Amino acid sequence: MRLQNKFILLFISILLLTFIINIFLAYFLIASTLTHIQKEEIRVAGELLRNSLEGKLKNLLLMLNLFFLKSDSLKNQIKEIKSKVAYFEVRRRDYLIKNWENPPDLPPFPILFQNPLHEYVERVKKFSSLPVTQIIITDDQGLALAFLHKPSSPFLPPVKRGENDFFLCRTEGKILSLSFPLEEKGITLGSVRVEVNLENIFKPLRLFSLGRTGTAHLLEKGKLLLSSSNWKGGEREYRDALKNRNYLKETWNLRIFTPSTTSPWELVLLKDKREDRVILVETFRNILRQFLIFLLLFILIGVYFSRYLTSPLKSIEKFAHRLARGRLSYRLRINTGDEMESLAKSLNLMAEKLEDMMRVLEEEKRNLQKISETKSLFLSAVSHEFKTPLTIINNYAHLLAGGKLGEVNPDQVERLRRISRHARYLIKLVDNLLNLSRLEAGEWETQMEEFPLRKILEETSKEFAPLARNKGVKLSLELPSRLPHLRSDPYALRTVLDNLVENAIKFTPSGGRVIIRGMKVGDRVRVEVEDSGPGIPPEEREKIFQPFYRVDREETRKGWGTGLGLAITRALLDLLNGKIEALEGKEGGALFRITLPIMGGEDGKDNGGG
Ligand code: ADP
Repeated sequence: MRLQNKFILLFISILLLTFIINIFLAYFLIASTLTHIQKEEIRVAGELLRNSLEGKLKNLLLMLNLFFLKSDSLKNQIKEIKSKVAYFEVRRRDYLIKNWENPPDLPPFPILFQNPLHEYVERVKKFSSLPVTQIIITDDQGLALAFLHKPSSPFLPPVKRGENDFFLCRTEGKILSLSFPLEEKGITLGSVRVEVNLENIFKPLRLFSLGRTGTAHLLEKGKLLLSSSNWKGGEREYRDALKNRNYLKETWNLRIFTPSTTSPWELVLLKDKREDRVILVETFRNILRQFLIFLLLFILIGVYFSRYLTSPLKSIEKFAHRLARGRLSYRLRINTGDEMESLAKSLNLMAEKLEDMMRVLEEEKRNLQKISETKSLFLSAVSHEFKTPLTIINNYAHLLAGGKLGEVNPDQVERLRRISRHARYLIKLVDNLLNLSRLEAGEWETQMEEFPLRKILEETSKEFAPLARNKGVKLSLELPSRLPHLRSDPYALRTVLDNLVENAIKFTPSGGRVIIRGMKVGDRVRVEVEDSGPGIPPEEREKIFQPFYRVDREETRKGWGTGLGLAITRALLDLLNGKIEALEGKEGGALFRITLPIMGGEDGKDNGGG
C-alpha cells in the first residue's frame, strides 16, 4: 500500500473510532438523561394540572357555598314559601306530577311559578362567574320551588348528605351535577341542585398536551371521566391500556396523581417513552448524515494533504530509480521549505558528486582499456613472434635428441629433451596467451554446428586415456543411454573439456580417479569433470578463473602450468552461452560443472555417432 493511502487510512480510522465511541457515549448519556427529564416533566406538568383543576373546583364550591348553603335569605325565603303554601289537594298534586302544569279547571298556583326564589336563581346565574346550566331549589319533600329550566318532573328525589357534601355524577359527558341539602339547625329545609358545564372546569385538562404523545386522563373511582383532546384512543383503549399496566409501563411513562380532599378524582398522565427516543434517533441520524458529509470532505482534504505531503517522497523515489538506472544528470526540484527540501538538496549534491566520480571512472576505464588493448597487442605480437622460433627450437631439439642430425651421447639426449620440454611449455603458454587475447579482443569466431554431445565426450576420454594410464589414474566416462545433440562450437567445447580433463589428471595423484559425466537437466545439458585430487579451497573457487591465478600449494608449484586454462575456459563458455562453476567432489576432490544450452535433437547410444 502506498504511503499516501496509509496516511489517509490512518486518519479515517482514528476519526471513525473517535466518532463511534463518542456517538455511543453520547447516545446512552442523552437517552438516560432524557428518560429522567421526561419523568420530571410529567411530574411537574401533572402537579400543575392537578392544582389548576383543584383550584377551579374549589372556586366552584366556594361560590355554591356563598350563594346557597350559607345564604340565610335563601333559607328564610324557602321557609316563607313553605309557610304560605298549603299543600295541594291530592288531585292537583297528581295532575302536577303527571303534566307539570297547573290543572286547567283549577285556579293557578302562583307561589310555585312566580315566587321570589326564581329571581334569586336568575340573579345567581347572571352575576356569578359560574358556568351554571341548571339550578333547582326544592323543598324538603323534593318539590321544585324554583329553577332555571323547567325540570322534567316537579318532584325530584330527596337529597341525602354525602361524604363530600355533594354528589358527583356525569351526564352527557359535559355536565357535572351537584346536589346538596339546605339545612338549619339539623332540620332539612330543602335542597339545591346545580348543573355545571364541565367544559369550563376541565378546560386545562382538555387543552393539556406534553410533547407529541403526552396525554392526561381524569378518573373517578376507576371510571374514565375525561381525556385530553390529543388522546387518540377512546375510553375502551384507555381502559385496555390501564388493565395491562405492564404493557403501559413498557412503552409509556406513566404517573398517577391521587385526589386531594376536595376532589374525588384521580389524574393520570401518560407519555410515550419512544417519543424522545424517536427525537434522539432522528437527531443522531442527522448527526450521522452530517458526519458522512464531513467524512467525505475530510477524505478529500486528506487525499489532497497526503498527496501534498508525500509528493516530495515520490519525487525522491523517482530520483532514486533514475539514479539506479544510471541517469546521474537528473536533479530533484523540491521547494517545500522544510526537511524535504534540505534532503533533496543533499541528494542533488550526492548525485553531482556521483556524476563527477563516474566521469573520472569512465576516464580511468578508457585509459585502462587503452592500456589493456596495448598490452594485448603487445602480448599477441610478442607471442606471435615467439611461436615460430620456439617451434623451430622444439623441432631441432627433437631431431637432435632422436640422433637424426648426428650422433649424441645419452647426457646430451637428456639435455636436449629438457630443451624440448621447456620449448613445448613455452609454445603452450604462447598459444594460451594468443587465445586469451583473441577472446578478450572479441576476435574469437565461433563455428556453430550440430553434433552429438556423446561423441565429443567419448573423444576427449579416449584422447586422455594414455595420459591417465601413464600417471596411474583411472579415467572413466559416465553417460546415460540418451544424450542430446548440441548446437554449439565443437572446437571451443573440446578446448574447454581438454583444459578440465588435463587439469583433473594433472592434480590427481597416482591411484586416484577422474570421472567425466554428461547428462540432460531440463532444457540444458550438464557436463561434469570430477577428480579425487586435493580439490580447491572454497575461497579460491572463483579466483581460479582469473588469468594467471593459481592456487598456492605444492602440487601447483611442482607441475607445469600457466594459470590461463580456466580463464580461457570461462571466456569460451561465455561465448557459448554456457557457464562453469568449481565445486567440491564427492571424495573431496575438484568438481567442475558446465551447463550449456541444448538447441539440438536427442540421440540414442546406437545412433550417437560415437
Ligand atoms: P594451470 O592449470 O595451468 O595452472 P588453470 O587456469 O588451468 O591453470 O588452473 C588454475 C589453477 O586452478 C591451477 O593452478 C590449480 O591451482 C587450480 N586447479 C585447476 N584445476 C584443478 C583441479 N582439478 N584440482 C585442483 N586444483 C585445480
